[in-house]
Amino acid sequence: MGRYLDALKNKKICGGDEPKKPKKPEKGGLLGFLGTPPPTFENNQAANDDAKQPDTAASFAWLIHYSDRDPLPVSFAEAMTHAEALAGYPDAVAAEPIAPPPPIETSCRDCRHFAKPGHSSGYCAGRDDLPLAYGANHPLRKLPDDGGASCQHWQANACGKES
Ligand code: SF4
Repeated sequence: MGRYLDALKNKKICGGDEPKKPKKPEKGGLLGFLGTPPPTFENNQAANDDAKQPDTAASFAWLIHYSDRDPLPVSFAEAMTHAEALAGYPDAVAAEPIAPPPPIETSCRDCRHFAKPGHSSGYCAGRDDLPLAYGANHPLRKLPDDGGASCQHWQANACGKES
């Protein structure tokens, strides 16, 4: 056993007689373990330029940015400024205006109140202001002339279609 340890102690591991010298860091811009300072891009400066995105600009839709999760698209009933849009999201770090989503196209055929008994063309089971389908006390109503395109009582049917 003693001979084996002596052999290990005398074995040359590095291949040379002198120990390896540590690599010297590159010169010019390297700050050691702090890394190289990031370059400044013109696009970054343009994005932060208040003259291009004034806080007074209003939009109906904003993309809310967070530091720890995906951006959240948000729509408002009224146009909101940057500060107003961020006011409701205290965890957000930034917001950018985006195009508002297209309006939902409603249709009786996609509504959960749509009923189609037998071979009928369909009736409404959700509104009381429409004419009765068959007579007094009948629960179904005739469909509106616009097919539900402007109905304020429309709700997505069980298939989940909402647009
Ligand atoms: S009239 Fe309105 S509530 Fe009734 S089925 Fe059509 S969309 Fe739905």
